[in-house]
Amino acid sequence: MNHFPIFIAVEGRRIVVSGGGEAALAKLRLLLKTTAHVTVFSAKAGPEIEALADAGRITLTKRALEPGDAMCARLFYAANDDAREDARVARLAHADGALVNRVDNLGESQFITPAIVDRDPVTVAIGTEGAAPVLARAIKADLEARLPAGLGTLARIGKAFRARVEALPFGARRRAFWADYYFKAGPRAHEASGEAALRGTLEALLDRHLDQPDAPGRVEFVGAGPGDPELLTLKARKALHEADVVIYDRLVSAEILELARREAKMVNVGKEGFGPSTTQQEINGLIVSHARQRAHVVRLKSGDATVFGRLDEEIDACTEAGVTYSVVPGITAASAAVATLGQSLTKRGRNSAVRFVTGHDMKGFAEHDWKALAQPGEVAAIYMGKRSARFIQGRLLMHGADPATPVSVIENASRADQTVLATTLGKLEPTLSKADLKGPAITFYGLAPRAAALAAATDSPREIAL
Ligand code: SAH
Repeated sequence: MNHFPIFIAVEGRRIVVSGGGEAALAKLRLLLKTTAHVTVFSAKAGPEIEALADAGRITLTKRALEPGDAMCARLFYAANDDAREDARVARLAHADGALVNRVDNLGESQFITPAIVDRDPVTVAIGTEGAAPVLARAIKADLEARLPAGLGTLARIGKAFRARVEALPFGARRRAFWADYYFKAGPRAHEASGEAALRGTLEALLDRHLDQPDAPGRVEFVGAGPGDPELLTLKARKALHEADVVIYDRLVSAEILELARREAKMVNVGKEGFGPSTTQQEINGLIVSHARQRAHVVRLKSGDATVFGRLDEEIDACTEAGVTYSVVPGITAASAAVATLGQSLTKRGRNSAVRFVTGHDMKGFAEHDWKALAQPGEVAAIYMGKRSARFIQGRLLMHGADPATPVSVIENASRADQTVLATTLGKLEPTLSKADLKGPAITFYGLAPRAAALAAATDSPREIAL
C-alpha cells in the first residue's frame, strides 16, 4: 500500500483550490459535501463556479494564487488544467504548509482523492492508487446500489444513542443490539414511518435487549477451505464476521484470517509438520475456556473440519464441558485439487469409489488396504503424503500396482502459488523429493491432469515433471 487511507478532520478548516475550469469544478463537487471552508483562486472562473460563489458556498478570489494564499489550509488542490501553473501553485501551497494534490499527477501529489460513496456519516472511500479508475467507479456503482439511501440517517440517529447503549455489557450483547438496529428494526421503522420514528425504535429496542439474559458461549467448527477466500461458504464468512475468538491452524491462509472481525481475538495454534506446537489438549482447553466466558468461538480448520482434522477430540471436549457447538462444512483439499486437474473424483467405468487416505497417522506412516488400492482404476486422495511418498509407492508396487499408474501432486491447491506435478507411481520418488515442494500438497493416486490442464501447466517448467 503506497497510500494509506485515512479520514481527515476538515470541519471549519480551509481547503484551497487553484483553478476555475473543469478540473476545479470536479473537485469542488466533492469538497462541497464537507463542512470545510472552500476557497478558490483563479483569474477566470466558469459560470458554475461563479454561481457557487454567488450562492456563498465558496469564496472566490479572482486572481492567480500568490504566496501565503494557502496559509492554514488543510488541503490544497492544484486544478488549473495546466501542468506548469499546477507546478507553480503546488510549490507555493507546499511552502504554506498545506497537503498538496496535483490533479492527474499522482507522482507529485502528497495525497489522492478516492472515489466516494456518501451516506454521511457513513462514507466509503475507494482507491486503486491510480491503477484502475474504471475499477474504482465500478465498485462505487456497486456499493451505491447496495447501500440503502436511508443508511446515513440510521447511522446519524444511532450515533446520538451510543452513550445509552453502554447500559448493555461491552462485547457480544452490544453488537447484537446494533446489528438488530442497523439490519432489522432500524430499516423497518425508517421505511414505515421515516426519521422521526427512529429514536422511539432505539428506546424500545434497548429495553428489549436489556431484558434478555446474557447469551451463553458457543463454538463453531468452521471449514476454511483450501486457501482461496472465494471458496469459503457464506456461513463460514458470517461466522468469521461475528466471532469473538478465532482459533486457527497453520494451513488457514492469511487472506481468510483478514476476514475475521477486527476486534476478534486471534489465536494461532498452528501445527508444524509432524507433532503439534500447541498440544491437542491445550487446544481443547482454549476452546472450552473461551466458550465458558460466553465468547462466540470460531475454531477454524483448513479444508473441511471433518477430514483429518482431529475434530472429534475437540467436540468431545465441548460435550464434556456442556458447551454447545455446531459444524460448518468446508471444501476439502481433495475437492479443490481435483478441480485443478480438470478431473472428477469418481467416473463411471473407472472408479465407483474414492478413498481419502492419510500418509501418516499417530503411529507413523499409515497402513491401508494396499491390495485393494493396487487394483486397476482405483483412485485415492492422499493427505499429508509428501514424506510418506516412498513408503506408499513401495507398498503399492509390492502389492502389484502398475508402475505406469498416473499420480498427480497438487501443491497449494486453489492458491495463487498452486503447482501441479504429473508423474507415475513408478517415478513418484525421487520425482517428488526433487521437486522440493514447500507448501501443503495432496497426492492423487490414479488420476492424471486432463490434457487441457496439463497444457496449461507446462508454461512453467517447475510445474510439471513427467
Ligand atoms: N481438513 C483439511 C486437511 C487437513 S490435513 C482438508 O479437508 O483439506 C493437512 C493436509 O491437507 C496437508 O498435509 C495437505 O495434504 C492437505 N492440504 C490442505 N490444504 C491444501 C492445499 N491448499 N493444497 C494441497 N493440499 C492441501
